[in-house]
Amino acid sequence: MFLTVHSTLGVVIGGYLPNPFTAFLVGLISHYVFDIIPHGDEVKLGKLSLAGMAWAAIIDQAILLLNFMLLAYFKTADVFTPIVIAAVIGAILPDWLMAIHRLSEEWDNRFARALHRLIDPLQNFHYYLHVNLLPYEIPFSLGLILQIIFLAGMWIVI
Ligand SMILES: [Zn+2]
Repeated sequence: MFLTVHSTLGVVIGGYLPNPFTAFLVGLISHYVFDIIPHGDEVKLGKLSLAGMAWAAIIDQAILLLNFMLLAYFKTADVFTPIVIAAVIGAILPDWLMAIHRLSEEWDNRFARALHRLIDPLQNFHYYLHVNLLPYEIPFSLGLILQIIFLAGMWIVI
């Protein structure tokens, strides 16, 4: 699922939790739970080259930032408390780890290999939830509509 959706869910979650630690943890869990829902970008994005993936990631982060600026403008900048920021970091962490996992595959040094091995079990878990747990593929376009509906729902709640 796109980072924009995960991060906005982090904003929702952070609003209900008492401290940054639980916010981070629940944000993290929310990422895995939402990735279980078939959302159309699992296979398509998985097939991209490294450069293609980098572009997709840059666009994803840019839309995330734009979405946050719009939230601050149309809602209130006060939503971004330290607790909310902790929840957002938890909610987007698995995809950052996925990127580091993928990149560390390309680097040929001891640090990169250690890093890759360290992230491996988490990334396998992430991939399993994403692709194998509910192995129903929906078209990318339908997934996009679904994710926009999720995003709109979250905007209403915030
Ligand atoms: Zn993910």
